[in-house]
Amino acid sequence: MRLIILGPPGAGKGTQAEKIIEKFNIPHISTGEILRENISQQTELGKKAKEYVEKGMLVPDDLVVKIAQDRIMKEDCKDGFLLDGFPRTVAQAVALDAELDKLGIDLDKVINIDVDKDFLVERAITRRYCPKCGKTYNLKFNAPKTEGVCDDDGANLLQRKDDTEETVTNRIKVYTAQTSPLIDYYRAQGLLFDVDGSKSIEEVTEEIFKGLE
Ligand code: ADP
Ligand code: ADP
Repeated sequence: MRLIILGPPGAGKGTQAEKIIEKFNIPHISTGEILRENISQQTELGKKAKEYVEKGMLVPDDLVVKIAQDRIMKEDCKDGFLLDGFPRTVAQAVALDAELDKLGIDLDKVINIDVDKDFLVERAITRRYCPKCGKTYNLKFNAPKTEGVCDDDGANLLQRKDDTEETVTNRIKVYTAQTSPLIDYYRAQGLLFDVDGSKSIEEVTEEIFKGLE
């Protein structure tokens, strides 16, 4: 199964990705997570990306396209993958199509999580993540069993630097201007289905699984 999950910041892409990869046994490719890892390890890529990510702007296409291409070529993606947060511009989508053509493979589906803007800022500023395994939590809607620590590995949960009200608001604007045209791009290819992301985490998962049947 080769999938893309699309939606504005805070829509629930990462949360739903965890459920999808478990069901279909495919790797989760989050360009945001790869960038955050590179930033924390201060790699060359991390140094180039840091300012964009922290301001809530898009990292230049050539950098992220290279990240995605390299990742898709890895052995564990042979039978499928879930792309989360990539592509984010039409140029990235065109580059992805070209890469998949070269590899002789097709996308199966694009999941579009549709959420009212009012929910997004609240969800993002109450988001916490585990720096060790990447798992996402929420202070209000998806709290860990013990406050402040990851259920799976006990690491202390952190807040993303870009999850402030101001940066999230900017990221939503960037999404509307630069990423939302991908909804029509993939709808025209007959790949896209919409789910209502304002429902509970469990209900959204159910809708996604139905759409993937
Ligand atoms: P994205 O990857 O799209 O930015 P996340 O999956 O990280 O979004 O979700 C954003 C925040 O909202 C997280 O803290 C997550 O636990 C929470 N969340 C995700 N889906 C829902 C939902 N359906 N209802 C309420 N909170 C949610
Ligand atoms: P969210 O979906 O919650 O906004 P992500 O983890 O997907 O978060 O992305 C965080 C940040 O990483 C983005 O705001 C952007 O700066 C950068 N980023 C991630 N993926 C891409 C991409 N495909 N193109 C450009 N920038 C990206």
